[in-house]
Amino acid sequence: MNPEIQGEPDFSAGLYIHIPFCLRKCSYCNFFSITDITLQNEFINALLGEMLLAGNSELVFNTIYLGGGTPSLLEPAQTAKIISAAYKRFNISIAAEITMEVNPGTVTLARLKEFKKAGVNRINIGIQSFQDKNLNFLGRIHSAADAVFGIQTARDAGFDNIGLDLIYGLPEQSVESWTADLKKTVKFRPEHLSCYILTYEKGTPLQQARKNNSFCPLPERTVGTLFEITTCFLKENAYEQYEISNFALDAKIVGTDRRSRHNQKYWSNIPYIGLGPSAHSYIEPARWWNTSNLKEYIKSIAENRSPIMEKELLTREQQIMESIFLGMRTSEGIDIEKFEQRFGSGFYDQFGKTVYYLEKKGYLTAGQYRCALTPKGLLLHDSVTSMIVGNLP
Ligand code: SF4
Repeated sequence: MNPEIQGEPDFSAGLYIHIPFCLRKCSYCNFFSITDITLQNEFINALLGEMLLAGNSELVFNTIYLGGGTPSLLEPAQTAKIISAAYKRFNISIAAEITMEVNPGTVTLARLKEFKKAGVNRINIGIQSFQDKNLNFLGRIHSAADAVFGIQTARDAGFDNIGLDLIYGLPEQSVESWTADLKKTVKFRPEHLSCYILTYEKGTPLQQARKNNSFCPLPERTVGTLFEITTCFLKENAYEQYEISNFALDAKIVGTDRRSRHNQKYWSNIPYIGLGPSAHSYIEPARWWNTSNLKEYIKSIAENRSPIMEKELLTREQQIMESIFLGMRTSEGIDIEKFEQRFGSGFYDQFGKTVYYLEKKGYLTAGQYRCALTPKGLLLHDSVTSMIVGNLP
């Protein structure tokens, strides 16, 4: 392994808990959630039941991630109940990173303080934009002023590990408009940033509106320019891009690694267990996921049945493809030694021809220890990695 690579993700597992409630569906969102929050208590009882069914695995966990949906809709006492049950049923380290996704439309100082008391030590706030026009287009429940209030209140509540989510590539978005959002973002000095390009997911109102020609999507070339601006601007402001969409404040400034410990597991072949409706789990070579129907989820737990809807075993070829696809999302890229130990074959023996061709074109760097995409390659991640794995025998 290259001795210069710092902060390797460790190999403890991650625990993901899906909270399937939202006050309103955002126009672009295809995550499973419902707006009927009357089932909250029944859901929590079912979740604790699922922990009984799935708990006590051999794994040691060092992250809990409360995602959704809108986990910040829960009462702090409910969150405390979930975290404490997770500690009882799973082998979770004391210093675990415990993240909760927060919607700015649900924030009060008292609630955030209580979430912190419940054990949450990292919060990820879904800001998306600091401009009301954009928030309306995305169908968010909060305003730009709520977004600012949410960040300031999280600091006041004592959180020293705050992540912000932003979306760009909206129709008619200009370089100036996106840069204004970025400038505002870095003023708050969040420890972590996720900047996602807007995608038009199947079955969402936004995709339907696009089909109806209600608006014109931003041209791909402009989206590419915004991606480059994001990377350069955040770099100038001391944010390290460690994955296509994810940036962490320089560890030298904050004194510690602020990359998302939990999310890194998804790109590094590290096991994770997902609880709650629609949640996915992975332990090499198996992947499985729960039903995406809340009533069915509650019913199956009440009947002492597993809520798992489907399970698949990845073939060796699928594992190779996935490790290249996921590894290449990160700025550190593929660890050649680990790849070769895992699959028992030489990475460059197998993929060298295409990889060296792509290196000449400036899309990646092919080193002795690592093979990683360049900034130009990251923007075209899907096409570049498809070219590499297209070479699988
Ligand atoms: S708040 Fe989040 S999970 Fe809920 S609809 Fe909006 S984007 Fe989806």
